Amino acid sequence: MTQKQILIVEDNELNRTMLSEILSDDYKVLEAENGQEALDILEQNKDDIHLILLDVMMPVMDGYTFLDKIKKDEELALIPVIVMTQGDSEADEVTALAHGATDFVPKPYRPQVILHRIASLIKLRETAAMVNQYRYDRLTGLYTIEFFYQKVRECLEANPEKEYTILCSNFENFKWYNDTFGREAGDRILVEGAEIFQNRVGEDAICCRYGADRFLCLLDKERERIGRECFIKGRQSKRSELLENMSVKLGIYEIKDRTISVEQMCDRALWVVDRVKGMYNQNIAVYDDAYREKLLRENAITDVMATALEEGQFIVYLQPKYSLNDNRMVGAEALVRWIHPEWGFMSPGEFIPLFEKNGFIPCLDQFVWETVCAKLREWKEKGYPIVPVSVNVSRADIFQSHLTDVFRGLIRKYGIDPQYLHLEITESAYTEQTDQILNTVVELRKSGFFIEMDDFGSGYSSLNMLSQMSLDILKLDMKFIQNEMTKPVEKSILNDIISMAHRLDLTVVAEGIETEEQMKRLQALGCDYAQGYFFAKPMSVTEFEGLLEVQ
Ligand code: C2E
Ligand code: MG
Ligand code: MG
Repeated sequence: MTQKQILIVEDNELNRTMLSEILSDDYKVLEAENGQEALDILEQNKDDIHLILLDVMMPVMDGYTFLDKIKKDEELALIPVIVMTQGDSEADEVTALAHGATDFVPKPYRPQVILHRIASLIKLRETAAMVNQYRYDRLTGLYTIEFFYQKVRECLEANPEKEYTILCSNFENFKWYNDTFGREAGDRILVEGAEIFQNRVGEDAICCRYGADRFLCLLDKERERIGRECFIKGRQSKRSELLENMSVKLGIYEIKDRTISVEQMCDRALWVVDRVKGMYNQNIAVYDDAYREKLLRENAITDVMATALEEGQFIVYLQPKYSLNDNRMVGAEALVRWIHPEWGFMSPGEFIPLFEKNGFIPCLDQFVWETVCAKLREWKEKGYPIVPVSVNVSRADIFQSHLTDVFRGLIRKYGIDPQYLHLEITESAYTEQTDQILNTVVELRKSGFFIEMDDFGSGYSSLNMLSQMSLDILKLDMKFIQNEMTKPVEKSILNDIISMAHRLDLTVVAEGIETEEQMKRLQALGCDYAQGYFFAKPMSVTEFEGLLEVQ
């Protein structure tokens, strides 16, 4: 262990040498002849001096002036100072303590007393520093999470009847901000955010920093409403220009169940804040049991999904697409189904978004694509009149692997023509306009695959963008069509979209056609193909093969 360093400030050379000798076995010693010299030394060795032994009467700068100066400096003020007083003068002792000395020793020196006092003061200071480190977050000065848990526990125990809320705040896009403007700017946001947070929730609230950019606080239920608005208002307050472009999300857990641990209570506030993450117009989420159920269900699904795939619980269904010209079946879409031994039939609407979130979707899609390719191969061998089958491609598929190689590999493996495999990519993936998606699509088309833009009209893409995108087929979103159908013909933009798509050489497919009326109207508008319950629901492969045979 490196030796601790002690600064002796004393004008009398004899005394200095004597002290230095007493200490030099256990410590490294620095010497100064007066207060000014001592300040200079401190300036150089700020973090490295563990204690100061200070004489009072000195030329140039006396001991009290020196004490006054170092007590004004945030860092220096923490160094313990032992003042050496003349004899047992009570007046001297009191003055020394009043100027902020930690302790005093009378002259003449008694080496053992000095050594013991020094050792215990250094120890004390280290313990205090450790406690502080454990209690306070270095950057923001708020409590650390461990100390926060302890304080919250104490507060709840002391006030069993009172109602409390745990509030979690999270900066939206903080990581992006940090990357773009640098760590220092990010730190400033956090420091300022912490200050506002504490200010708005009030002095009584117990606040801490949880991880990078999240704060937690326990507050009185009555103050909750004020707390809820704290950050949202904080954005408009004058002193937070930095925060102006930062959106803040709040997660709220109203403590109803005191039997769960404080950690669990905080988890609930932390979970629920994710619910409004990325939402443009919603900043606050309140935890409720329904949300808990949803999370538990999601966890349960995540636990079993891989086994389910191995055990063959996922099944590919096919939904035919028909030509609106001559009612011929012109294709099909592969839609996955999950039949769980206990939970029964599960809708893709429940598990696909989760698999997109938890990263499982590429595994499942790989299985669906293989199944479809194997079927196409089988039909080819059996001499069925084959129609193209579309498979859904998720955003994550595009980012995960080299997609073109994957699909090229599949058609090679199963010896099928790429024109029979259509790839449906949802509109919102396109509108992100990332180069990777656009490049992948161009590559796939070059390799002979057909690209369909799925769910067109559900997002924000414009007609203008259509001309810039590489694709073959436009699939109109079901909700969009239904919505357009409620408008008078002249007000609907369906006509414009279909004409525009045709001008761009795109085939148009209408999805989710449920009634004859819808079918007739789309037919009149020149829509090419349709898919929906009016024609056929998604069906098992065997059933679908029945349709192929009668073609
Ligand atoms: P999608 O690709 O837009 O598929 C069309 C959805 O509309 C299917 O829902 C289909 O069953 C449903 N549908 C078809 N006709 C009608 C109709 O006339 N009325 C109504 N109300 N619905 C109709 P499904 O099978 O529940 O799938 C939902 C979504 O899950 C799909 O939307 C797709 O985005 C995704 N999905 C399904 N299977 C897969 C898959 O294997 N991989 C990936 N990545 N996503 C899939
Ligand atoms: Mg689709
Ligand atoms: Mg769709």
